[in-house]
Amino acid sequence: MEYKNCMVLCGPELEPFYCSRFKVDGDTIGAIDRIEKANTVKGDGLVIIPGLYNSHTHMGDSCMLDGTTGLTLEEGFFRPDGYKYQELAKLTPEQQVPHIVAQLQNMVRSGTVGHLDFREEGVKGAEILKAASEQVGLDSIILSQWMTSPFDSATLMENKAELTDEYKQELDAMLAAGDGFSESTMNDMTDPAWAYVKKRTQELGKLRAIHCLENWGYRNLSLEMACRGDLIRAIEIYDPNIIVHMTVANEEEQKLLVASGITGVFNPRANANLGLPLPPIKGLIEAGANMLLGTDNAMLNNSNMLAELDFTYKVAKSQYGDAVNPPPQEILKLATSNIRKVFPDRYGYLDKGVPANFVVLDFSTSRLQHTHHLLASVTTRLGPEDVLATVLRGKAIYESKNFN
Ligand SMILES: [Zn+2]
Repeated sequence: MEYKNCMVLCGPELEPFYCSRFKVDGDTIGAIDRIEKANTVKGDGLVIIPGLYNSHTHMGDSCMLDGTTGLTLEEGFFRPDGYKYQELAKLTPEQQVPHIVAQLQNMVRSGTVGHLDFREEGVKGAEILKAASEQVGLDSIILSQWMTSPFDSATLMENKAELTDEYKQELDAMLAAGDGFSESTMNDMTDPAWAYVKKRTQELGKLRAIHCLENWGYRNLSLEMACRGDLIRAIEIYDPNIIVHMTVANEEEQKLLVASGITGVFNPRANANLGLPLPPIKGLIEAGANMLLGTDNAMLNNSNMLAELDFTYKVAKSQYGDAVNPPPQEILKLATSNIRKVFPDRYGYLDKGVPANFVVLDFSTSRLQHTHHLLASVTTRLGPEDVLATVLRGKAIYESKNFN
């Protein structure tokens, strides 16, 4: 696989270079022959960018698009009575897989090579997603949650109970079926249960993730049950690799995330669609947090990361309140090179010798070829129609009919 006279966003800083050649050897980038730095389109109109990572999805609800319209976060998404869980329980794996495949295809058509899925339905859920992902060929990182809640609400409020042996066995089975553990909120388990999950995932070398501060209820209920907010509780007793949302994080909580060194994930379109505030993109980026970007539930939001990048850039510009900041590559990094801090073998950038995970874009069209700022156009103007190929480890997982 080889491309000539193309633009390539090079290295972790995503610097645009005009290159005489971009060459793939097997699953690795064999050569990027740079000619000169340029932020316009030189050559034949091919632009090669790192493959995008969508760092927060729930693809399991692909079969109920927009079903939560008109419902609150609690009514739509919380266990045990939320719409999502009620509807998921009605479906067989055979019914779920084709819907998930269709939405994963939407992801690869829009330049996404991998995603972190916060999968419901325990081991069964992980296996359903794996079956769908194998059909599409993208990199699905699966973080599982319990099939049913381990504790009732009275036990949660006492905050003392341990996980039963049955749940400890389910945890081991989930960690064997997927890549790690996630839960909806810190308020879904007791402190001793979180401590056990932390210990067990560390023993088995698996990932830990959690949603924090998606709305004020997360913090308030945590204060009631554990005398601490959900973010500080997550950092102290669970030490996750990834904390999703931070939507209503105040300044003190933003500093806590930065001091912890834990990677966060913004989901601005999903937050907006639930009528929640927009996340503090400026605050967390300026404070130095390592942040990623996700589209959240398939039923709540289109899983197209190109659209998420456009929205996020504009929200960030508005929050910074000036014409300069942030530069577009800072937003593009949320879907590319920032991933490496959590997954050292997934580089999220392009360089000789790194995995060949990239997207080939068509900037030869009259709509795009005259851009005066390639990085801004890549971040804000693309749709699936501009993607010629999405390549994971040297293999095309999507190719446009227009690509030859
Ligand atoms: Zn989630």
